[in-house]
Amino acid sequence: MSVTGLCQICESAEAQFACDRCGAVVCQAHYDPALGLCEECAAEERRSRNGDESGFPGPR
Ligand SMILES: [Zn+2]
Ligand SMILES: [Zn+2]
Repeated sequence: MSVTGLCQICESAEAQFACDRCGAVVCQAHYDPALGLCEECAAEERRSRNGDESGFPGPR
């Protein structure tokens, strides 16, 4: 995989990965290899997995 440009989260480090969900290119610090997602999507993913208690069906 060749990703060029700056991380779309910190915009200061060279991007090395592309998020599987939103397609953002991010540096190693802002990529979650376990999920294959950028930090922002990984945070949402974790929240949606753990946030079943309220059943909040928000679009985001
Ligand atoms: Zn970054
Ligand atoms: Zn993402």
